[in-house]
Amino acid sequence: MHFNILTVFPEMFPGTLSGGVVGRALVNGIWSYKTINIRDFAINNYGSVDDEQFGGGAGMVMRPDVLGQALDSIKDKGKIIYFSPRGALLNQKLVHKFVNDEEKIFTLLCGRYEGIDQRVIDEYGITEVSIGDYVLSGGELAAQVFIDSSVRLLDNVLGGGAESTANESFEIGGLEWPLYTRPSVWRGHKVPEVLLSGHHGNIERWRKQQSDEITKERRPDLIKEK
Ligand code: SAM
Repeated sequence: MHFNILTVFPEMFPGTLSGGVVGRALVNGIWSYKTINIRDFAINNYGSVDDEQFGGGAGMVMRPDVLGQALDSIKDKGKIIYFSPRGALLNQKLVHKFVNDEEKIFTLLCGRYEGIDQRVIDEYGITEVSIGDYVLSGGELAAQVFIDSSVRLLDNVLGGGAESTANESFEIGGLEWPLYTRPSVWRGHKVPEVLLSGHHGNIERWRKQQSDEITKERRPDLIKEK
């Protein structure tokens, strides 16, 4: 997988993506990225990439001429994604959809200020993706969330392979069950007996029941989705 990342803050990458399994996958060439500094296409020597909104209102908008040139500088753009609170909400199902897409190149457009001129979205047929119902200051964090959640689903990224992801929240049709490790007693709190029993059938039943209860309590919407 390759990501072209358009941003006014290229120094923010790889950022969190340099650590852990995703960072190792980057070193191993399982994924790659290239940042494109939007300011390299600024309209003047002051580095201006934005302007006031037509129609009035607070906040600046990223200019279409600047973004158009920045996008056109990329030879193979693949699928273009603009991170925006208006976009399709990113969930595990959508992440799988992107990962399984025939297209293995993604161009990620990170907005700043109030966002980007609508004509850029229309001109390039850009897909809008939101990472949640809140407003960030910029698309860079969203791009890192998108890359992290995608890359960890690629082959040879997680130690346990497909099994590591298969048992996770959302993959199991709900939220994960409680997890425990050594010591078996900590500050007087004991690990549930069944997990120490070695009885795989009982352990599986317990986990399923815990997962169902937690999902019902915290995210009943996921049960409806099943
Ligand atoms: N004016 C926009 C609105 O009301 O929808 C918010 C702009 S926000 C301050 C600046 C940039 O942050 C956006 O252009 C977008 O790239 C990014 N951003 C903010 N919230 C986001 C979210 N929930 N998901 C993805 N990107 C987001």
